[in-house]
Amino acid sequence: MATAKPKYLEVSAGVRYWEDATINGVEDEDGNLVPFRSGDIWKPVINLDSGVMLNWPEGTTASIHYKVCDQGEYWLQDESGERVAKWKGYYVPGCFLCQGGGGFGDYIILNVGEDGKIADWCKPDIVSEHWKAEPQPKQTGFCEKCNKPVQVKTRGKSQLLICVECGAVALPF
Ligand SMILES: [Zn+2]
Repeated sequence: MATAKPKYLEVSAGVRYWEDATINGVEDEDGNLVPFRSGDIWKPVINLDSGVMLNWPEGTTASIHYKVCDQGEYWLQDESGERVAKWKGYYVPGCFLCQGGGGFGDYIILNVGEDGKIADWCKPDIVSEHWKAEPQPKQTGFCEKCNKPVQVKTRGKSQLLICVECGAVALPF
């Protein structure tokens, strides 16, 4: 396990039947109502302490009962959104995403309130054997401003070079 403290769970799960969700009381028949859909993948990020989904559209409620393909990927992120560890399995980490039980690693079952908080959220224990530490970012040069090392940081799909000292963003590589 990496030394950085896990703060968020990043989900990247292939959903088989998008209609198995109810958004604001309406069945998501075409799968275009649920937040965080990207193609066939559902990609929420969850605050582990509070159970709140990041950037949840306020006032939206969701009842989700997704059957998930086995190729799902799940990461722990640190406070800055950096991936620190990856879930070793390809089944759903039910202790996080199916807290009521009964998902058998195949389902994500969650109710989300207007504030983006997962109903009855209980912060799961993070069992280090279940997670593989992500490789630490490579040092790739020095900051022009303060001459401290810059590191590659992943921000969504893009990678940036960020100074560990002053936080300056260097030129992309
Ligand atoms: Zn700097």
